Amino acid sequence: MGSSLHRRLILVWTGVVALALGGCGITGESGYSEANSTFDSMNFLFVAFTVGWVFCLGATIGSFLNVVVYRMPAGLSLNHPPSRCPKCETPIRLRDNIPVLGWLILRGRCRACREPISPRYPLVEASTGLIFLLLATVEVFAGGWNLPFQARYSDQTLVWLMWETPWDLIGTCLFHAWAMTLLFGAALMAVDGHETPAGLWRWGIGVGLIVSLFGEHLHPIGFLNPRPEWVYGISLTLAEFVLGQTPVRLTIELAGVIDAVIGLTVGMVIGFTARAVVGGRDRFGLPFAAAIVGLTFGWQFIMATILLAGLIEVALKTATRMIPVLVSIPAIAAFATAALVQLVLWDWSTMQFWWPDYRGWAMLTTWGVPELLSLIASAGLGLLLFAAAARVKIRNIPSETASVA
Ligand SMILES: [Zn+2]
Repeated sequence: MGSSLHRRLILVWTGVVALALGGCGITGESGYSEANSTFDSMNFLFVAFTVGWVFCLGATIGSFLNVVVYRMPAGLSLNHPPSRCPKCETPIRLRDNIPVLGWLILRGRCRACREPISPRYPLVEASTGLIFLLLATVEVFAGGWNLPFQARYSDQTLVWLMWETPWDLIGTCLFHAWAMTLLFGAALMAVDGHETPAGLWRWGIGVGLIVSLFGEHLHPIGFLNPRPEWVYGISLTLAEFVLGQTPVRLTIELAGVIDAVIGLTVGMVIGFTARAVVGGRDRFGLPFAAAIVGLTFGWQFIMATILLAGLIEVALKTATRMIPVLVSIPAIAAFATAALVQLVLWDWSTMQFWWPDYRGWAMLTTWGVPELLSLIASAGLGLLLFAAAARVKIRNIPSETASVA
């Protein structure tokens, strides 16, 4: 499944949503003043198209993610050969490659050889679509509801997006969707028993650092919050050194890169420690996931995520032990889930004194060393939970069935 097909699909959907927006805009201008019912139906159309488009965009990226997960660990090119059936190698037509629908229409079989195609492909596509929809809902449609210091709590209908497009929120949402897609991909590779390939590391860290140059708002919580003056001093000196002149905007953008680098470093330390305590087959992808989460959301975020991930991991391992039908999933999947939950509840969680966010447990004390210690305690507790979960013995279902028989 080559990427040129995906590019064409994304173009088609962008065209559809542009037409829909144009149509809504035209009917809206005449309808808004005339009657509320016209406005309501326009709003409904707009919501339906926007929601559908976001899901389709995510599903198409999920379809490409299937290609990356299959080809990248094997060292194959992502572009060549184009999409084809893994069994008979017949190229897949554009209409059969439509995410989720293509699989359903073909009833899960190749059009040429009728060999079954794994339901994992449409499931990954649908899940990526839903992740995009979830992030777009909280970060764009709801006016950045989950983002600390950025929430706009729009009480308007979704149509406000058309008159007052929040490009900064859309940028933040795309940045976060990129990070979550990487975590999902790395988790799928871990399920297949592969280490996160160097290519994914390069893309994740490279794109993350470059994107961090484009706006401080991409990092709502600075590595110190609020960002102290000397951070701007350092970034100004750096910018002057590189550019030979005094920029105004770039100094603020560089502050975002400093946040990203510190988050990345702390993420790597946490990730490699988690990998060491988990061991075995579960260790794949943990350092990558922690590095990407630290880079994207900041170092404080990772301290809270590792604790939540440890709790999820213990719950999952216990459930897998007690309910024999469940199969074990790699630790990185628990980590990615924790990061998604923490992201959706980010703003809310920073207000809770009992949650170790950038202000959380520290509300018990004052800003400074005690806060730092509480965050380290949180990460330590998370790692301990990971170590405990790794010691939970999972029943080996096939051999046990055999011994009963
Ligand atoms: Zn085939």
